[in-house]
Amino acid sequence: MIVGDFMKLYNTLTKKIEDFIPYEGNKVRIYTCGPTVYHYAHIGNLRTYIFEDILEKGLRYLGYDVSRAMNITDVGHLTSDGDTGEDKMEKGARREGKTVYEIADFYTKAFLDDMSDLNIKIPEIIEKASDNIDIYIQMITKMLEDGYAYLSNGNVYFDISKANDYYQLSGKNPEDLKIGVRDTVEEDKSKRNPADFVLWFTLSKFENQVMKWDSPWGVGYPGWHIECSGISYKVFGEHLDIHCGGVDNIFPHHTNEIAQSEAFLGHKWCNYWCHGAHLNDESGKMSKSNGEFLTVSLLKEKGYSPVEYRFFCLNSHYRNSLVFTYDSLDGARNAYRKLKAKTLSLTDEGAKQEEKYEEYQTQFKAALGNDLNTSLMITVLYDVLKDDEVNDTTKKLLIRDFDQVLSLDLFKEEEQTVDASLEKMILEKIEERKEAKKNKDFQKADQIRDELLGQGIKLIDTREGTTYEIIKD
Ligand code: AMP
Ligand code: ZN
Repeated sequence: MIVGDFMKLYNTLTKKIEDFIPYEGNKVRIYTCGPTVYHYAHIGNLRTYIFEDILEKGLRYLGYDVSRAMNITDVGHLTSDGDTGEDKMEKGARREGKTVYEIADFYTKAFLDDMSDLNIKIPEIIEKASDNIDIYIQMITKMLEDGYAYLSNGNVYFDISKANDYYQLSGKNPEDLKIGVRDTVEEDKSKRNPADFVLWFTLSKFENQVMKWDSPWGVGYPGWHIECSGISYKVFGEHLDIHCGGVDNIFPHHTNEIAQSEAFLGHKWCNYWCHGAHLNDESGKMSKSNGEFLTVSLLKEKGYSPVEYRFFCLNSHYRNSLVFTYDSLDGARNAYRKLKAKTLSLTDEGAKQEEKYEEYQTQFKAALGNDLNTSLMITVLYDVLKDDEVNDTTKKLLIRDFDQVLSLDLFKEEEQTVDASLEKMILEKIEERKEAKKNKDFQKADQIRDELLGQGIKLIDTREGTTYEIIKD
C-alpha cells in the first residue's frame, strides 16, 4: 500500500490542503501541545484532543507507524499567552491552598481520566515541562551563542528579527500588532523588538515562585514556548512530521516554537501544522472562570455519557468552530443511542461479503483521508446500516473496523453499573421529587420524572420508595 496517497491534511503553514508525506518513509512523529494543569480541562480543550485522537488513529488505520508525544505544562504558562500576567500554576495553587506540585499532580490525573472517558488514546510519550529543564538550557545556550537570543535585564529573549519568516504560520501582519503579542499588554522595555519573547526568566515578577532552577543566567524558570520545542527535540530529534493544537496556539505559541526550534537546529523542523477550531458556548469564548464551567464530570452529572459528547464533536469538521448547547448535545445523544441500538441488534447472519466490505471501507478511507472528514465517516457508517444488500455479518465487520478510528463503543453493551456522579444526580432528583410530592406540588414531581425519562432514566415507584432503571432505546 502506498500510504502517502491516502491522507490529505490542511496545513496551517501553507494554508492549503496537502498530501501528507512523512519525513521518513512510513514513520510519523506527531507532537500535540498538552494541557496546562492548573484546573480541569473544559470540553472545548477536549474537543481539540478528540480531533488529535482521530488524526493519530486515522493514520494508524491507514497503515502508518505513528508515535505521538504530548507535554504537560506545569511551569511557565502565564495568564496571557505571551510573557505577561500571572503564572497559571501559582494562581491554581493559591486558589486551592495547595502547592503547585499537588495542583499539577491532581489536574494531570483528572485530565488523563477525561481522556480515557472520551476514548482518547493516551499518547505513549508524555513529558512534564518541569522534567526537561536541561534540554531548554542546552537549546537556549546555543541560541545565545549563535546570536538568535540575547540577555537583557536578567531575562533571556529570542530576537524575532533573526527568525526566518517569523509571521508565516500566523499570516499576521506585524504592522497590525501594536505591541507584537497582544494589543492590550504592557510593553516590556527590555526587548529589542516588541514581539521578542522570553526563553528564560530570572527577572521573576512572582516573589514566591516555587518552581525555579539554576541556570547559566541565574535562578529562574523557562518561558512557556521553549518546553514544546525542547520536548519534541528530546523525543523525536531534528524532524517532526505533524504538530497540532487548538487555533489559539497558532500565535504566539507555535509561531515561537518554529522560530526557536529552527534557530537551534539550523534547518526546517516540522512540515505539517494542524489546528482544531474552537468549541464556544453561547456567550462566545469558553472559559474556566466565567459562566458554567463545562467539564466532562459536569456532563456526566447531568446524565450524558462522555462518548455521547465525542459523537457530538465528530459530527462537525474539526476546522469549523462549533457552538455548544445542551439542545444540540441532546440531539447528538438521541442519534447516538439509536445508532448504537441498531448496531447491537445486528445478528451473525451470513458470510462476509468481500466486495461490499471493500467498497464501504474504501469510502470510509476516502472520508478519513479527506482532511479527517468525521461527519462523512459517520455517514458511511449509516449507509452501511441502511444497505439491504449487505448482510449483518458484513455490517458488523465494517462497523468494528470503522470504530477503530471513531472509538464510539458501538458494540459495548450498556453497563449495568451507573457512574457514581450520575447516581448522585439521580438520587438527588428522587429526593427533590419526594419533597415536591410531600408539598403536593405534583406538577413539579412529574416534571422531574419526565426530565429524567428524557435522559433515559426511568423512575419506578414502589411501596418501599422510588428506584430507577436505565433504559435502552
Ligand atoms: P491549555 O490547557 O489552555 O494549554 O489548552 C489545551 C488545548 O486546548 C490547546 O491545544 C488549546 O489550543 C486548546 N483549546 C483552548 N480553548 C479551546 C476551545 N475553546 N476549543 C477547542 N480547543 C481549545
Ligand atoms: Zn506547545
